[in-house]
Amino acid sequence: MPDTFKAILVSRGEDKKQSVAVTEISEADLMEGDVTVAVEATTVNYKDGLAITGKAPVIRRFPLVPGIDFAGTVLASSHPEWKKGDKVILNGWGVGETHHGAYAERARVKGEWLVPLPEGMSPRDAMAVGTAGYTAMLCVMALEHHGIMPKRGSVVVTGAAGGVGSVAISILSRLGYHIVASTGRTEEESYLRDLGATEIISRDELSGPAKPLAKERWAGGVDAVGSHTLANVLSMTSYGGAVAACGLAQGMDLPGSVAPFILRGVSLLGIDSVMAPRELRLEAWRRIATELDHAKLAALSTTIGFDGIIDAAHRIMDGTVRGRVVVEM
Ligand code: NDP
Repeated sequence: MPDTFKAILVSRGEDKKQSVAVTEISEADLMEGDVTVAVEATTVNYKDGLAITGKAPVIRRFPLVPGIDFAGTVLASSHPEWKKGDKVILNGWGVGETHHGAYAERARVKGEWLVPLPEGMSPRDAMAVGTAGYTAMLCVMALEHHGIMPKRGSVVVTGAAGGVGSVAISILSRLGYHIVASTGRTEEESYLRDLGATEIISRDELSGPAKPLAKERWAGGVDAVGSHTLANVLSMTSYGGAVAACGLAQGMDLPGSVAPFILRGVSLLGIDSVMAPRELRLEAWRRIATELDHAKLAALSTTIGFDGIIDAAHRIMDGTVRGRVVVEM
């Protein structure tokens, strides 16, 4: 391997404006950590779009290599759990936010942040799932934990054609749920049905101001959108149901009522992937490896090279990315 390697670097000038450059860095530029990994695959998540475009203050230390997740092979380790040649996955822990991230050919991180690449999955497969897909699994696990099983009724998935939405539909379908997919891209109906959606609704039905309580339509929800959409999803959740909230594609606000909570016993389940405990991550990745249909994973992901990352970051902000984008380094 050469002494320097390709990286994307986000810097900030004295005017506080962000700039993004493709550059070369060396291992001496990497941050503290006890494991160095050859990044073989990464991905472009919504958060990476926010980080690269500067639309939200995701990056909190400059200059920084963005990229919140990767899969690759350990090159060097002084951590007891990892040795050279091990295949690993990283999601979150502030990587790509305060610690140099995935958009470089090598990364140095703390060993405790890593999980093993599950048997039978390639780095590319893992990044076709990526943080968005692993978060979708955390949402499904939270719903199950709350007793939302297929016999209880439908589950609505918002932001359905996006990364979290597409993987959530694939997982829920495999588990036998009746899935209502909410999308702004009705032209993606056949894609969503192929993933396993049973009903498609327009996101317009959910994006305006919510009534405190509306007709009960589903027992559960996976919400990647927030704001009015989440308020509507809650107001339409049937008695004793639950909604796993993980995203903010419409907004970070929640302009709703407590009525679903106090009159229908509905629960709002908060999902965070960044600091999720290791046991939960291991369980999520174990289930992804064994329960996610590989053909569906191939259908919901497209592959780009390192040079396509910045463009994909802009496209995900425009809402035009379908499913998941995998970056093969
Ligand atoms: P994507 O951009 O792939 O998906 C988001 C989808 O939301 C879009 O595809 C679109 O779906 C829908 N959408 C976009 N804009 C709007 C809008 N204004 N109103 C309503 N719907 C909209 O992103 P990801 O799937 O990667 O991430 C989804 C969300 O989940 C993001 O907010 C992200 O930050 C969050 N997230 C949170 C995590 C956590 O740890 N809590 C981890 C991972 C992601 P369609 O075209 O079908 O309508």
